[in-house]
Amino acid sequence: MNSEASASSGNDTRDRLTGLRDRRTFLARLRRDCLRTMSSGGMLAILVVNINQFRRVNSVFGLNVGDHVLAAVATMLHRLGRRNDLVARIGSDEYALLLPGVMNEGHAVLAANKIQRELEAPLDIEGTRVPVSVTIGIALCPTHSSHAETLFKQAEMALTRARRTGSVYLVAEPVKAMEIADTWDLEIELESAVENEELELHYQPQVSMRDGAIVGAEALMRWQSPSRGLLLPDEFIHVAEETGRIQSLTQWALNCALRQARESRERTGRDVTFAVNMPASTYQNPNLIDLVGNAMRLWDAPSGCLALEVTESLAMADPDTAFETMKHLRALGVRIAIDDFGTGYSSLSYFRDIPADELKIDRVFVQRMLESEADESLVEVMVQLGHRFGMRVTSEGVETGDAHARLAGLGCDVAQGRLMAAPMPFDEFLEWVAQRGADWRQPDSGR
Ligand code: C2E
Ligand code: CA
Ligand code: CA
Repeated sequence: MNSEASASSGNDTRDRLTGLRDRRTFLARLRRDCLRTMSSGGMLAILVVNINQFRRVNSVFGLNVGDHVLAAVATMLHRLGRRNDLVARIGSDEYALLLPGVMNEGHAVLAANKIQRELEAPLDIEGTRVPVSVTIGIALCPTHSSHAETLFKQAEMALTRARRTGSVYLVAEPVKAMEIADTWDLEIELESAVENEELELHYQPQVSMRDGAIVGAEALMRWQSPSRGLLLPDEFIHVAEETGRIQSLTQWALNCALRQARESRERTGRDVTFAVNMPASTYQNPNLIDLVGNAMRLWDAPSGCLALEVTESLAMADPDTAFETMKHLRALGVRIAIDDFGTGYSSLSYFRDIPADELKIDRVFVQRMLESEADESLVEVMVQLGHRFGMRVTSEGVETGDAHARLAGLGCDVAQGRLMAAPMPFDEFLEWVAQRGADWRQPDSGR
């Protein structure tokens, strides 16, 4: 059944089907090894290995053979690795290799060639000959990044390019010295962004699918940089996270959202919940509960006016601590939303205990469901899962009337996306609420 379930033992979790480490463990090791590589002055490589057209293997040979193929590829990768290499299964048909202490790029390329050669002959799965091929993306620390998440992204991008160009493998694009210098400047500029009042929150409405009523808005950070113009979070949040600057940005966002929630109540006479994104590192901050509590008192915030969006992978990385923190936050009257649901690879058994009020289905699923019935079924299951555990379900990235209608049909509660409105500055948001907040549908939208 191409199972993705993970068995866990402490911090080291494994994929049940192949016995390999899972994505979470891989990333944890990668973080550690990147730090080590940086302090020792060495080099490490990662390879992301994707089985080509694995769906076809499943449909031609059956799921049972498919499972055996996944296990056989796992065994082969494990056999090729050296003692300190780490092999993990990071997706249904995707593996990752971590090669610490490589001398140069050639070493990683050699590994990719070896993998390809191993697969030149079809696999023998209980007497059935199954042809299998793979595509590989390669990235090196520190050449392509010294930051685990970015490095991983670089390898995945190389994989995507390899697929597109029909190459067996590709190495990530070299990062230009200019770009490194640029990141450095960005870090320095970001240091003074809060005190120079260069940050602002834009708000994107969240609207009830049943009656069009506005139930809240997500606060999304924008940086009006004097030298670069308006920057979106994807361009600076990762830098803030790498440098630890993210703590002060989060504190700023909390206070700004609470202040504007109050202003919004006063000017529109409506109660809306403003949702603030919490970065991955937040739950390691022991002062988080005080920080939120103090900000709520400062802005005299009523219960329910603040939601915190927490990504699924974050909540699951250390569930005991995260759940304890969430419970305290809820006791302060804060709503907890699980963000980007479905994109992590967390175990469902944790889900049972998440103290959350809301589940946000990631926009990739909403986009994919329009093209594939299987993805629509996934969304349906996520909606049911949320409801089964008493959560409100919000869909992100609702761009078309078709998506809206289908999500409503699946029982989704709240929609957020460009169909209703793109994120907008606070004043515009208030106008939006005043003008058509009661019902987002415009007369000419044809629905
Ligand atoms: P997210 O939490 O998934 O936020 C939703 C993103 O989807 C926003 O991008 C929003 O502009 C975009 N979006 C809205 N409607 C649509 C649509 O119909 N289609 C598509 N394709 N996209 C849509 P944005 O503002 O660029 O934010 C990107 C990410 O940055 C956010 O993803 C969030 O993870 C992070 N982020 C934003 N603000 C903050 C913040 O204050 N603190 C932290 N730590 N992270 C933030
Ligand atoms: Ca979010
Ligand atoms: Ca999201």
